[in-house]
Formats: sequence, structure tokens, C-alpha cells
Amino acid sequence: MDLNKDVKYIKGVGPNRVQLLNKIGIFTLKDLITYYPRTYEDRSKPKNIIECINEEEVLIEAIACGKVSEVRLKGKTMQRLLVKDETSSCTITWFNQSYLKNKFNLGQKYKFYGKIMNHYGKYTMTSPVFDENSQNFNTGKIIPLYPLTYQLSQNVLRRIIENGLLEVENELKETLPFYLLEEYKLKGINEAIKQIHFPKEFEEFNQARRRLVFEELLTTQLALLQLKNHNREEEKGISFDKKVKMSDVIHQLPFCLTKAQLRVLEEIDHDMEAEISMNRLLQGDVGSGKTVVAMCAAYKAVKCGYQATIMAPTAILATQHLENFQKILKELEIRCELLTSGISKKKKEELLQNLAEGKIDILIGTHAIIEENVKFKNLGLVVTDEQHRFGVKQRTKIAEKGENPDVLVMTATPIPRTLALILYGDLDISIIDELPPNRKSVETFAVSKKMTERVNGFIEQQIKEGRQAYIVCPLVEENEELDLKSVEQLYDSYQKEIFPHYKVEYIHGKMRPKQKDEIMERFKRGEIDILISTTVIEVGVDVPNSNIMVIENAERFGLAQLHQLRGRVGRGEYQSYCILKFEGKSETVKERMKVMCSTNDGFMISEKDLELRGSGDFFGTMQHGLPEFKIANLFEDMPILKLVQKIAIQILQDDIKLEKEENEKLRNLIQDKFMKRIEI
Ligand code: ADP
Ligand code: MG
Repeated sequence: MDLNKDVKYIKGVGPNRVQLLNKIGIFTLKDLITYYPRTYEDRSKPKNIIECINEEEVLIEAIACGKVSEVRLKGKTMQRLLVKDETSSCTITWFNQSYLKNKFNLGQKYKFYGKIMNHYGKYTMTSPVFDENSQNFNTGKIIPLYPLTYQLSQNVLRRIIENGLLEVENELKETLPFYLLEEYKLKGINEAIKQIHFPKEFEEFNQARRRLVFEELLTTQLALLQLKNHNREEEKGISFDKKVKMSDVIHQLPFCLTKAQLRVLEEIDHDMEAEISMNRLLQGDVGSGKTVVAMCAAYKAVKCGYQATIMAPTAILATQHLENFQKILKELEIRCELLTSGISKKKKEELLQNLAEGKIDILIGTHAIIEENVKFKNLGLVVTDEQHRFGVKQRTKIAEKGENPDVLVMTATPIPRTLALILYGDLDISIIDELPPNRKSVETFAVSKKMTERVNGFIEQQIKEGRQAYIVCPLVEENEELDLKSVEQLYDSYQKEIFPHYKVEYIHGKMRPKQKDEIMERFKRGEIDILISTTVIEVGVDVPNSNIMVIENAERFGLAQLHQLRGRVGRGEYQSYCILKFEGKSETVKERMKVMCSTNDGFMISEKDLELRGSGDFFGTMQHGLPEFKIANLFEDMPILKLVQKIAIQILQDDIKLEKEENEKLRNLIQDKFMKRIEI
């Protein structure tokens, strides 16, 4: 049996269906049997009709009170059957199913599964699936429901998976070592795979799922810990000079650092002076002052005779960092330069030359820094800002431009602590859990479209007082043309209809960096009153005079992202406001809006986000460079996550490279899953 066999060889899969399966990521037999159900429908437990709740999906067992009658409606036919059990009766209807006319016999018992309606004690069910009482084709069991694609039905996919399972029947090679199966009472792989698709009861499902989640989380954890250890062991890093004090630059700052900033600087200083190379994650809410921390670290590196580089996700942000650095560092005779893809060829050549000769001390830039021809003389410190935008690979790549430079990764997407271990298991973590003093929290309101006029009135009033506003519109899809359109439309209506007497501008990701920078500059200088934008302003941008942000279609954003966006206001002395315009009546949307209005605490928001959206979406939008989880849900499976974190540490303590025979299976699993992605 070959798990890599193309799905086209599975029974029931023709040329058409191959394409449909490919579309949902199923290419091989292995993909097929590890395509797990999204949820299940319990069609095994019958209910008395009278106990059924309106709109409930239920199984009823009832006797046919006659034959199916048929009536003709406009363009279709309707079949009707009256059935009853000991408690009540129910009228069942189907449409265009004439063949049912002779299907049911008077007085015989059948099972029906479908949505039941109770209208003042009159029960009806439309288009249920059914079986004769003694049969279990469509009822009488737990049915898996899979994520589908257009033109692929549950029944078809279920049957194909059934066929796939028949091919591997009890012949899968065990993937976990026996000692783990025994100690943690885990099912064998064959049982687990079979039962995750077709559990006989929910307890069976629970156990099957537990085993698969365990395996998935354990391998991820082992791989990350190995990576961390690898960084530690083999790469002797730079010991920066203890005599060079960060306090020299701290004294130059126009403000006092917070306790939290000082604490993380101490942690960073300690790492920099130590012989092993630093691999540290700096987490801190928006506005907590991470940039200045990076600056202090860069200062130390430079004064010790090394170069430093700061990589930011957007040109706007890189430019802003450059300005902030220069303000302080110019007087200390440190030369900072900017590298983005927007600079001219000639300028770039000159810059690269200076960089290679060591004439530039700190290079700040975007992805452009990763390019091959960017060479440093002696790179000692790498800082990546807003790390969630970059993958593990990029982080590694830029570090390769020096000889084991120290690495500092900064993120403003606070992550619940336990999860940070999964996402950043290869890093040590520092947290800035305090905002600079005198920050007013941003007052947040969630409103429906109906309030638009009042919102506009409010904007008007603030602009009159000299403030500026951001209007953010969502990415319509991953489709830049559409995004562009929605920005332009919004611009038209704000500039021409609502605020013709103010200066409105717009900015979006598709613009050339130069154009973007120019608009941001004008906004900073106060020449633009209202800036319409896509999420390009999400990260980092600092315009203290801007105190209102209106977010259109806020329901389309994740909470973490809304929080990031909101962080653009509340940066100056003025009371700031964030207005979330939302559509839709769904409870989750309302709940999410409520969270945003009730707290400014990024950690709390990220916990809530995870809870409300589930981990799939949460991590899906983060591009963290890790494989997605097929079955684990990091929120629900927190207890298992904690357990495997302990187990992983134990295992690696004795056998860091997983070379022992008993761990061979784990080694194979990790290789299979990660080696292609994270190059150790
Ligand atoms: P983030 O952590 O979101 O990157 P920034 O580094 O951009 O935050 O800092 C936000 C603003 O706060 C900047 O204008 C910065 O100069 C200012 N700031 C940073 N630390 C302090 C401090 N200790 N006291 C007062 N203002 C500070
Ligand atoms: Mg920042």
C-alpha cells in the first residue's frame, strides 16, 4: 500500500472528481485519509416527535400512515407523506422526487433524518434522508461532514474517503513510538484514522481526535525546540563589549523609558554580551515603544564596532524608523541609511558599496534588505519589526548576512502566552506590558451604517478643531483591483459629497513607495485632513495629530487587526476615537465589536479573537511560516498543548537529535512535516 498514490486511482474518483479533490488540497491517498471532517451529524439517536424542538435536525422513527401523495405546483411536483409515532404525527414533504410514490408501505416503520418544524404543534419535515427501519444507509449512525467545494457533495466525498480507508485498512505504519502510546493511552494510528472519519459514538471520536491532535502538536513542538537548540549550540555568537553602555543613548532621549522598556533592555543587553547569539522575541502592544528599544540595541552594536539592520514590513514604516533613529543618533555620529525597493539604481549602488565598506552603521529598510546583493561588512544585530509579517525563513535568511549576528524580533500582535511557545518556540520572549505614561485610551464605538451622518458630523467637528482623521476600508478580497476600487469609491464620496471643503487623500498598497511616502509626509505635515486607506497604515505609522479613525465594514477584520489599526490613533495629547462601522446581525460580529469597545488591552483582545474565530483563522492571517494545523485547535486543545510542551522538553533532554531507536518514529514525522519548510 502506497500512501503517496495519486487519488485518481481510488475507487469512485474519475477525471472530474480528481480536479475537485485537488482543489481542496487532496492529491494523494494520504491527503485523502487525513482530510478530516469539519463536524459530525449524529443520526443515531431517535427522538419522539413531540419532544422535537422547532428547526432541530433530528432522527425520528415513525410509521407511514398511507402512501405518498403527489401534487403539481408551478414547474415542480411535491410529494407528501404523513407519518406517526406513539407521541405525535408529522407531515413529510419532498420536491421532484416522483420515484418515492411507491417507496413507503402503509403501517411500516421508517427512519427519517432532517430539519423538523413545529408550528403550533403541527410538525413538518422537508426533504429528509431516510431508511427502512432495519437499515442504516443514511441514518442510524454518526455522519462526518467535510469542508467541501462547489460541485463536490458530502455523499460523494464521504464515499471516496470510505474507499480510501478500505485501501489502507489496518495497514498504516504506526507513527508514534510505542512508549508514548502506552504512557498517554493513545489509540493506534489505524484506529484513530478510521474513527476520526466514522466514529461509532462520540467517545470514540474524542479519543481518535485526541491521538491525532497529540501527534500534530508534539511534532510541531519538537521541531521548534530542536530549532531553538540548534541556534544555541552550534552558533557561537558575538559577545558585545560590556563597557559599551546603552545608558549613553538612553540619556539622549526626550523622555524617560518605562519600567517595562528598561527591563527588556536589560534582558537584551544581557543576551548581547553573552557568547551565544541572541534569538529574542519582543512583544509589546501597539504604542508601547518598541522602536526605541531597537534603537538602544542598535546603538550598542554599532558602538561595539558592528553594523545593525532593522527590517520593517512597509516602506512607510521603514522611513519613519529612519527619521526617529536619525533624530537621536546623528548627534552620536552614527550613520543610518534607508533601503527600500523604491530608491533609484544609482543611489542604491552607492548605498550598497558604503554598506559593504562599513561606512553605514545602521541599515533600515524593507524586504529589499534580504536581496542577495545586499552585503554588510560586519553585521552584528538584526531586528525585524512586526515579525508576524515575515516567516521564519526570512528571519534566518537575513541573519545569514552576518556571522551569527544577534537577532531581535518585534511584534505588536500580542499572542496568548502559551501560544507564543508554539509560534515562536525557537525564541526567548520579552514582553513590554506597560504603555508610556499619560496615554489616553482610545474611545471606541461600534455603529451601524444608519449612523453615518452622525459619524460624519463628529469628524467635521474634530477637523474644525484642527485634528485629522483616518478612514480605513477593508480588503474586499485578496484582490487588489477590487481593493483599489473600493478605496477610490470611498474617496469620491468623502471628497466630493461629504467633505468638499476639506482636503481628502487616499493611499493603498498598490501605489509606488515614493507616492505613498509623499502622501504620508503630507498627512504628517497636516496638509491632508482626511486620509482614506487600506490596511497599509496598519503597522507603525505615527501621526500624533490624527485622533479619529473610522473603520468601514469593521466586521470583516479580525480583532487583532482592528486593534492594530486602532493603534494609529491615540498617539498624541488629544483624546482619540475609533469608530467601527459594521454590517450584519450575527451574534459573533456583535460580540467582537463589544470586545473592541470594552478594552484596549491587546493581550486580552488576542485571547478573545482566538476564542471567537478559532485558531484556523487566527493563525491563517498571520503568515507565521509554520505549517497549518490539520486538526489541532489551539484554543480548545490548550490542555493537550501544555502536555506535549512538557513531553517534548523531556524527550529532547535525553535525545536532542532524536537519534535513539525509540525516537526514530518521531524523527521521521518531523522530517516529513517540517524539513521542507524550516531548514535547520
Ligand atoms: P510601537 O511599540 O507600537 O512600535 P513606537 O515605538 O512607535 O510604538 O512608540 C510609540 C510612540 O511612543 C512614539 O512616538 C515614541 O516616541 C513614544 N514613546 C516610546 N517610549 C516612550 C516613553 N517611555 N515615554 C514617552 N513616549 C514614548
Ligand atoms: Mg512599531
